[in-house]
Amino acid sequence: DIRKLIVGNWKMHGLKSALDEVDRLAELCSRGEPKADILICPPATLLSEMAKPCADAGFLVGGQTCHHKLKGAYTGEISAEMLKDAGATHVILGHSERRLYNGETNEQVKAKAEAAIEVGLIPIICIGETRMERDSGQAVAVVSQFLAGSIPDEIEDFVVSYEPLWAIGTGLVPSPGEIAEIHMAIRQRVGGDIPILYGGSVKPDNAERLLSIANVNGALVGGASLKADDFYGIIKAA
Ligand code: 13P
Repeated sequence: DIRKLIVGNWKMHGLKSALDEVDRLAELCSRGEPKADILICPPATLLSEMAKPCADAGFLVGGQTCHHKLKGAYTGEISAEMLKDAGATHVILGHSERRLYNGETNEQVKAKAEAAIEVGLIPIICIGETRMERDSGQAVAVVSQFLAGSIPDEIEDFVVSYEPLWAIGTGLVPSPGEIAEIHMAIRQRVGGDIPILYGGSVKPDNAERLLSIANVNGALVGGASLKADDFYGIIKAA
């Protein structure tokens, strides 16, 4: 059985004061051994500072993107090795917001994943369909295409996250049957050992239902990961 993985994607939220939320989460989690692995992906500016308190609490930390080159004259970019050096174990790649606002293509996501693997980071590769694609019955096809294009050929250790674009930050979630169908299609492609996360409006009150769907091995949480009490509500459901 795959151990559940609950990931907090803080996106572009979090100043130093957010370390209080880490302390609070550590306190909540110390009350009982969490059954899931917990990974927090803060803004890169907080990574180094959060690595130690997170390690002490048993949480992993990760990045939200990385460059596809290992180093060089790329002003403003962050390499996979820098994330690793700051304490990261994972890096989120190809999030729909990066694909949408930064024009990231499957090819780029694949190259970034290759850079991540090269330095020993585990890529979390994000894929998902738009509302229009879902409504026209193309969700499985779209997700399969993303998968085929974004995942390096020679890769053993990675995570896939299914995040329908229309479920991100909207309070909408697909039906359990719709999620099961997509996760089954992903499972058939990636094999039995790869964790497949669901993301998109995961909240404390729907987490148990979502995390009990077949082939859902964890969650990628945006808004509800920012407050320790909300995030703990999801962790508890795993
Ligand atoms: P929300 O949980 O805020 O819907 O965001 C989901 C997401 O994009 C996580 O990566």
